[in-house]
Amino acid sequence: MRYVSTRGDKTERRFCEILLEGLAPDGGLYLPLQYPKVDDATLSKWRGLAYADLAFEILSLYIDDIPAEDLRAIARRTYTAEVFGTPEITPLKTLEPGLALEALSNGPTLAFKDMAMQLLGQLFEYELKRRGETLNILGATSGDTGSAAEYAMRGKQGVNVFMLSPHGRMSPFQQAQMFSLQDANIHNIAIEGVFDDCQDIVKAVSNDLDFKRKYKIGTVNSINWARLLAQVVYYFAGYFQATKFNSEKVSFCVPSGNFGNVCAGHVARMMGLPIAKLVVATNENDVLDEFFRIGVYRVRGSAETHETSSPSMDISKASNFERFVFDLLGRDGARTKALFGEAVAKQGRFEISAEEFARIAGYGFASGRSTHADRLATIRSCYASYGVLIDTHTADGLKVALEQREAGVTMLVLETALPAKFAATIQEALAIEPPRPAGLENIEALPKRVTVMPVDVQQVKDFVRSHV
Ligand SMILES: *Cc1c(COP(=O)(O)O)cnc(C)c1O
Repeated sequence: MRYVSTRGDKTERRFCEILLEGLAPDGGLYLPLQYPKVDDATLSKWRGLAYADLAFEILSLYIDDIPAEDLRAIARRTYTAEVFGTPEITPLKTLEPGLALEALSNGPTLAFKDMAMQLLGQLFEYELKRRGETLNILGATSGDTGSAAEYAMRGKQGVNVFMLSPHGRMSPFQQAQMFSLQDANIHNIAIEGVFDDCQDIVKAVSNDLDFKRKYKIGTVNSINWARLLAQVVYYFAGYFQATKFNSEKVSFCVPSGNFGNVCAGHVARMMGLPIAKLVVATNENDVLDEFFRIGVYRVRGSAETHETSSPSMDISKASNFERFVFDLLGRDGARTKALFGEAVAKQGRFEISAEEFARIAGYGFASGRSTHADRLATIRSCYASYGVLIDTHTADGLKVALEQREAGVTMLVLETALPAKFAATIQEALAIEPPRPAGLENIEALPKRVTVMPVDVQQVKDFVRSHV
């Protein structure tokens, strides 16, 4: 399998060449040259597989530069019941006939980002060792991504993590999750500013190409192809649990921000997984819902980006969306470049043609949006009707799923976080404290390892220099 950019550069790369990369050199995102097709016999063969072995089968269609036995060992080391809580790894929780949650948030940080990041940790360690190299991951986080990266990379050979977060602005639980890590290769830096200040520092450091090269600075952001690929697996796993026969179709409703999660669903569908609809659920930050309703993609400014009670979906633009648009436009790299590299860059928006818009239905996409009031109502009704407590992001998904459900087609809502992470809104909705998984009851009381710093690029550089 070879990978190309969405912006027309025809250079073909192999999996391990793009594993440690972010954007392609022309500013595009990487996609495989074509999607491997999975036939009926293969689906039947995969039906009985354990999650790690299913992951191996899917990964091996896309990765031909890691020996099969090594790749299988990596998948088996990653997807264990010890790390993900159950042997199914992503078990279904049935709400009623034809409606279920697929649990993706039983990993170490209680959010679905662990599903991909845990694999990335294993792949990075493997590839860096093979090359005899080291990597210093520099990132900015307001919560989920940073903690998932730290739990994936902790104790890994050849990798250090420097994670910037806005001082005092994450929830006490999120701070405790990150700052209680005592691993020598994990460095928490709390910046006396807001999330944007953290991101600006990361950009400034990465734009210093000499520093970047000398100190081997890398990232683990959501556009990384390996992260997306890892997420394809749970669409298959969810489908197999929800069906008996390959003739059945299933729909997925996906709480969305950067379009990474649901883009993996698109890939699964392109491979031939019998998916009826892929429903994109947004919160008040409805960039994606707007596109699927009217064919206009419009990036929001910071004044128009709302801080909501499903904060991991508070986006101003959807960084993985370009991948789907590239496919929608018949893989026309020049046109994709004109839309994302030029129109979005200059006018902050683009509009696709009526003919292009009409093609979207053929890809199964539908969408909807949810508000704070919807979240509260959905958390309450899910608890009252089914006795199941859901988090705010999953509530956005369930709200939209109920609107988009079709008779005779099972709807799976991806559960992207556990309620324990968003206790304040659960309190607001139900006046109860969400239970915490065993071992996390007193996490706030653990000793913290964090360095507080002003908004100062030089101090962050000095810190990296003296800790590699
Ligand atoms: C990151 C995140 C999302 C959004 O996922 P995307 O891949 O960015 O669409 C939704 N819910 C939770 C809990 C998350 O952490």
